Amino acid sequence: MSHVDALSRNPVEIDFGCLLVRTIDTKWIATVQKDDSELKRIVDILNDSTSGDIVDIRNNFLIKRGLLYRKTDDGERWVVPKGVRFQLLKANHDDIGHFSFDKTFAKVKESYWFPKMKRFIQKYVKSCLECAHAKVPAGKKAGELHTIEKIDCPFHTLHIDHLGPFVRSSSKNSYLLLIIDAFTKFIILIPVKSTKTVYSIRAMKNYFNRSKDNSDSDMDESDDAQLDAHEIRKSNEVI
Ligand SMILES: [Zn+2]
Repeated sequence: MSHVDALSRNPVEIDFGCLLVRTIDTKWIATVQKDDSELKRIVDILNDSTSGDIVDIRNNFLIKRGLLYRKTDDGERWVVPKGVRFQLLKANHDDIGHFSFDKTFAKVKESYWFPKMKRFIQKYVKSCLECAHAKVPAGKKAGELHTIEKIDCPFHTLHIDHLGPFVRSSSKNSYLLLIIDAFTKFIILIPVKSTKTVYSIRAMKNYFNRSKDNSDSDMDESDDAQLDAHEIRKSNEVI
C-alpha cells in the first residue's frame, strides 16, 4: 500500500483562498467582469460612442477606472458576473456567520449589483443547509416539562394522549383520545376525528359532563355550540 502511504505523507494542499470574494479587490472585479460575455457586451456599448441609441444601458451602467458599475438609487455598485455570484454569496453569508436573508441582502447590495439579485439571495439563503439545520422550529413552542406530583385521589391527575391514526370509522373517527387516571390507572378511550384540540376538548367535556350529570347526553356533534371561540383559545394555551 505504498501509494496510500505516499498520499498520507504528502497531502495535496488545495488553496481555495483565491476563490473567495472576501475583500473588494478592484483588479479581481475587472478580470471577472471581462470574462463575462454579457457584461462585455455592456462595456462595449458604453465604450462605443456611436451606439448612443441604447439609452437603457447608458442610463443604468457606467465605466469608472475600467470597472463596470450599475447606477442604483443608493449609489454606484459593482456589476457581478454570473460565474462568481455563488462565491460572492458564500463570502457574504457562509463565511461571516449565516445571517438572515435581510442582513445578507443588505450587506451584498452595499457594494454589488446583478440582475434579480434579491431573488438569487433569497434562494441561496433558503437552500443553505447550515441555516436549515440551525433553524429554530417554527410554530408553537413546546411547553416546559414539569414533574407531576403524585396525589392519592382518583381523577385528581389525568394523563391524556392520542392513539392512532386508525382506519377511519363510519362516524369518521380516526383517533382515540386516551385518558388515564394517574391514581387508579382507570383508562378511558374516546374516538375522535383528529388530534385537533377542539375535538379533544369536546370529547372530554362530553365525557365528564355526562359522568357528572349522569345524563344520557350523546358525545357526537351536538355540543359544538358549547365550545365558543374563547374556550377554544383558552384551551389551546394550556395544551
Ligand atoms: Zn446559511
